[in-house]
Amino acid sequence: MSEATSLTVGTATAKPGAVARGVIPVTTMPGGGDLGVPVIVINGTKAGPCVWVDGAIHGDEPEGPLTCYLLAQEVDPARLSGTLVLVPIMNVGAYEAAQRGNPFDTFSYDMNRIYPGRAGGYLTERVAHAHSEWMVKVADYELSIHSGGNHSYLSETIFATEDAASQELARAMGPGWKLALRAISPKGNPMGVMVDAGRAGITVELGGRSATSPRAFNWVGRTLADAVLNVLRHYKMLPGRARYEKVRYTGVQHALLAPVSGTFVAQAGLEFQEPLKQGDKLATIYGVYGDPLAELRAPVDGMVFGLRALPNVVTGDWCCFYAEVQGTLPE
Ligand SMILES: [Zn+2]
Repeated sequence: MSEATSLTVGTATAKPGAVARGVIPVTTMPGGGDLGVPVIVINGTKAGPCVWVDGAIHGDEPEGPLTCYLLAQEVDPARLSGTLVLVPIMNVGAYEAAQRGNPFDTFSYDMNRIYPGRAGGYLTERVAHAHSEWMVKVADYELSIHSGGNHSYLSETIFATEDAASQELARAMGPGWKLALRAISPKGNPMGVMVDAGRAGITVELGGRSATSPRAFNWVGRTLADAVLNVLRHYKMLPGRARYEKVRYTGVQHALLAPVSGTFVAQAGLEFQEPLKQGDKLATIYGVYGDPLAELRAPVDGMVFGLRALPNVVTGDWCCFYAEVQGTLPE
């Protein structure tokens, strides 16, 4: 194997065996502050691939930042082969506002729909472009961490394209990650850019509004960080054996939206990623006087992998993340 070399991302340059912090510079804000995307580069003592982890492309999803902070504490460059790049907060303006998108940019609000952006575009497009340029330059494998954000909770779920490299990355997430849904021609997100560049990229979901209590949020961060550590072992970047989920499912997502406004109450006893039959009751939406106005039911055989966690619901709001299971994946 060739010798390790220095790796630069933005203003951060890490020599072999070192960790560097910096930013991917974007622009200056009206108050004079610099807008840059924080980055941590952990460069191993031996050569190897580059795994790139990014969080908070949606600003109401703090699970990615927590995962990156745990990995920054735990991954020792002296034991690492290759490089781990951590981008805890991609969408800085959205994160500061704790909103999905940056409220300063109403033209390209959702960064996960306009990626890789444009160098001369709207503000969020410029942030996306700056991130994308560096990611494509150095990364072999990319994981974009998401959650249910301000309105929902999502259980351990992966979106991946059909290509062998991305499927291998999904499998490398290890125990507990048994649902890898099809991302059919993903456009507008980092995964799509990585796949177009001939690399591997996946979108990973875990956590959200109902899982920010001390115990739950720490568990979510631990679970995500353990999965990334498993990925590093899978690619022989860290010593030790990677572990794998025995039975994994694939399929497609159905987004179940609220047919009426009201108060959303999930069916008591409903469990994530347990088999359901078409027509099984998932939730009831109650009107202001307590009348059940609508029921949500399983559209096909499959499983629920995410649910609304903010009971106040407006017609058209996201209510249920439903997986139509279409088969199993190789162990
Ligand atoms: Zn998200």
